[in-house]
Amino acid sequence: MNIILFGPPGAGKGTQAEFIVNRFKVVQLSTGDMLRAAVTQGTELGRMAKAVMAAGDLVDDGIILGIIGDRIDEPDCANGFILDGFPRTLPQAAGLDRLLAEKGRKRDAVIEVQVPDSELFARIEKRAAETGGARADDNAETLKKRLEVYHSQTAPVLPYYQEKGMLNTVDGLQTIEAVTAEIMTILEG
Ligand code: ADP
Repeated sequence: MNIILFGPPGAGKGTQAEFIVNRFKVVQLSTGDMLRAAVTQGTELGRMAKAVMAAGDLVDDGIILGIIGDRIDEPDCANGFILDGFPRTLPQAAGLDRLLAEKGRKRDAVIEVQVPDSELFARIEKRAAETGGARADDNAETLKKRLEVYHSQTAPVLPYYQEKGMLNTVDGLQTIEAVTAEIMTILEG
């Protein structure tokens, strides 16, 4: 089972991904987590990505596709994976389809968790307070930029999947449990 979890920053993708991982025994692939790990480790990728991420911009498509292409070849991805935070641009979506075709793998479901911007500001501010500002991009100014980037570069991926009849949309304003229940219905249906 290969799943794409889609939605703006703060929509709850990470929270829902955990439930899906436990239920379907797939691995969660969060490009944001991978990039943050690279920044912490001070690798070449991390040095390159650090300022881009702190500004709320997107890391280069080719680099991201390279990372995902290598990662899904790892043995732990054999049973499937859930993509969280990727694809984030149309070239990434098209690149993913190419990668999957080359590897003889499929994409089973695309799930969009929909949350309005006003609610996202409140959630990210709460997360920033709870984590003591652990994430350099969890502040009102950078979030504004991340949302602009989401609407201009990431949201256009939705019609790409809709045209393919792949898009499922869930209301992310519901309780965590209700969102999980809807996602499970979609994946089990
Ligand atoms: P959120 O979804 O909460 O904004 P993520 O952890 O998914 O946070 O991503 C944090 C940052 O990492 C993004 O703002 C961006 O700079 C970078 N990033 C993550 N995934 C991608 C991607 N697929 N393509 C380009 N940049 C990415």
